[in-house]
Amino acid sequence: SDNSLTQEEIINKYSSIQYQSLSTSKVNGCFVTLARNSDLWGLVDSIRSVQDRFNNKFNYDWIFFNDEEFTDEFKEVTSSLISGKTKYGKIPKEHWSFPENLDLNKAAKAREDLSNLGVIYAESVSYRHMCRFESGFFYKHPMLADYDWYWRVEPDIQFFCDINYDLFRYMADNNKVYGFAISIHEFEATISSLWGETKKFLSDNPQYIAKDNLLDFISDDGGATYNLCHFWSNFEIVNLSFFRSEAYEAYFQHLDATNNFFYERWGDAPIHSIAASLFLKKDEIHMFNDVGYSHSVYQNCPIDNDFRLSHSCACNPDNDFTFKGYSCSGKYFDVQGLKKPNNWEKYSD
Ligand code: GDP
Ligand code: MN
Repeated sequence: SDNSLTQEEIINKYSSIQYQSLSTSKVNGCFVTLARNSDLWGLVDSIRSVQDRFNNKFNYDWIFFNDEEFTDEFKEVTSSLISGKTKYGKIPKEHWSFPENLDLNKAAKAREDLSNLGVIYAESVSYRHMCRFESGFFYKHPMLADYDWYWRVEPDIQFFCDINYDLFRYMADNNKVYGFAISIHEFEATISSLWGETKKFLSDNPQYIAKDNLLDFISDDGGATYNLCHFWSNFEIVNLSFFRSEAYEAYFQHLDATNNFFYERWGDAPIHSIAASLFLKKDEIHMFNDVGYSHSVYQNCPIDNDFRLSHSCACNPDNDFTFKGYSCSGKYFDVQGLKKPNNWEKYSD
């Protein structure tokens, strides 16, 4: 903890000069962004923020995926902002289309029913392709074959604080596999059958369940029901061996065979999270509570004053989501046996 350090010592400890030398020990990682050409202008601020707070020091590559060809404008503008190499990949058709045996009428009816419940993206077909791609296909793209780690970036995100150490390197050095910043509850109606299917899969494949897993993060009753908690996957840093594992692939194949990405509206976040919580040891999962981050309405703003000042954070700790009721991160602290920061109660509502 930095609590015993003076302000000056903290600034020294976290000065970027000290950390520049680390760029010689980069891991084999890259940023990955899935985007439409029309996402360009929402994305440029995200990229600037990643670059200004982190990547100007470390220069990691950045891979973009799209279900269509990227325009020259998209490629020119994004590559002008990024200090690492940039690559632009088109998603193969078979990773972004309806499965052959999908009942199109049933899928249309399901979209309508979900829409009547007022669920966000209920009527969107492309959102479902996106969730399925992020669940089971992105890591199979040949452009990622040479990388061991990925850090996901979306439009309309922001990093609030200087990130003065290499988050990838941190993961590698500390045997972490899955890293996140924000956790939250899912809308039940989007994943009604997901836990039932997960339990079916697990009873056929109990060998994939890790000892010392994080089941208690996703279930309050020892696995009988899903408590809807998940890591918010719009920011995640993951060792790709996790997605490439036999366990994850078998799980995805089981889930995909139900076609419920289309008959419901399964998100990639609960799927990544359930898999990480069951197939990994709990100490292979890491919460970057020190990474100030926002995506749309929710944000992680470190509540420690000294930390915020020494990292030039541009966020109001009253807006920190970590300990709010709809977040799952308070539970995460508890099930991991982590000590909550001083004064956390002050930021809990
Ligand atoms: P939300 O974060 O759940 O509100 O969903 P987003 O609209 O941010 O979509 C998640 C990610 O997928 C973002 O990086 C989007 O740019 C991307 N995305 C969403 N829909 C599409 C699509 O139809 N085509 C492509 N190429 N990217 C998409
Ligand atoms: Mn988003």
